[in-house]
Amino acid sequence: MSNYLMDTYNRYPISFSKGEGSWLFDKDGNKYLDFAAGIAVNILGHNHPKINDALSKSINDIWHVSNLYSIPQQEELAEKLCEISFAEKVFFCNSGAEAVEGAIKTARRYHYVKGNNERNEIITFEGSFHGRTLATIAASLNEKHIEGFDPLPDGFKKIAIDESDLEENVSNKTAAILIEPIQGEGGVNVVSKDFLSFARELCNKNGILMIMDEVQCGLGRTGKLFAYEWSDIKPDIITIAKALGAGLPIGAVLSTKEAAEGMTQGVHGSTFGGNPLCSSIASRVLDLIKEENILSNVSSLSEYLISGINKIIEEHHNKISSVRGHGFMIGIKCKSENTVIANEALKNGLLVVTAADNVIRVLPPLNTNKNEIDEFLKLLSITLENLSD
Ligand SMILES: *Cc1c(COP(=O)(O)O)cnc(C)c1O
Repeated sequence: MSNYLMDTYNRYPISFSKGEGSWLFDKDGNKYLDFAAGIAVNILGHNHPKINDALSKSINDIWHVSNLYSIPQQEELAEKLCEISFAEKVFFCNSGAEAVEGAIKTARRYHYVKGNNERNEIITFEGSFHGRTLATIAASLNEKHIEGFDPLPDGFKKIAIDESDLEENVSNKTAAILIEPIQGEGGVNVVSKDFLSFARELCNKNGILMIMDEVQCGLGRTGKLFAYEWSDIKPDIITIAKALGAGLPIGAVLSTKEAAEGMTQGVHGSTFGGNPLCSSIASRVLDLIKEENILSNVSSLSEYLISGINKIIEEHHNKISSVRGHGFMIGIKCKSENTVIANEALKNGLLVVTAADNVIRVLPPLNTNKNEIDEFLKLLSITLENLSD
């Protein structure tokens, strides 16, 4: 491990030198089934030939120009994102946290330009994760993430995912509610359709914006293009990032025209946001989601994967107890320590991700196939067998 890196990560003592589809290889040629996908990033697996082709082409065309000029690749991507979602306006940035920051700024400016600058409070929820910038840790208020970082930005109110709690906490100070329709880091907690409908109605009644953080659950992960499609409602703003560049850093705020009204010239910006290289690749990623029938792959294999996990739970109910999620965003609730299971999985050639609430997240590339799912189920069984009680 390096002496030169800040010690912010608890890293597994392993590194990879090559990736191919759903597989990663270390320098000794050992192979690992990558059902972590860079934490929901590598949706097309590693080394996808069509993405690699697009990347080579873009590298030879143009990498970067600033947002002082019009960027056709960025315009094309924005148009595609609006075509496939509720959105009419897009702002590009480089990461999930920046997208959430952009969404918060969009919501506050919306009320500000209407003359309601006292409406600046954002309601957030227990178990949420929105990133690691000061504002996004203030939004989630996770004890582990905020310690030692005072003073935090003001104007966030964290409540339980509960209808009466929400109703009680909405006031004429509320600018927006910010919610992950499926919490990722929090342990793959699917927010109910009913709660989202209730929140939407409350927002409508009170002139409040509804922001959904789809940084992890968006872009096909759940078997629908966006997780809000599992509900009966539409948000005013969503944030996306992780999967958008399939490994290149790019994020975005997607908004209705109305909610974006305060985002006028000069009020927000990003040097790299939506640069030609990342935009052209993200555009290609969206094309490939369609061309390669990614959504139907996820939908048709998800049930198979979940029922396979359920069979393993029957055999190992002393170590894992239940499974939850949608599509390829799956959480396995553990009885044994989730970190111990993840470590043992790694020893057996399987990558998964831990989450809060003692959950193991299973986040395969969205183009993984049935054979690889069989391989996953086999490796998970072996992992649990090798785990001492
Ligand atoms: C990962 C994540 C973020 C933060 O994204 P970064 O790219 O790490 O800044 C924000 N929201 C959700 C829901 C996430 O899963």
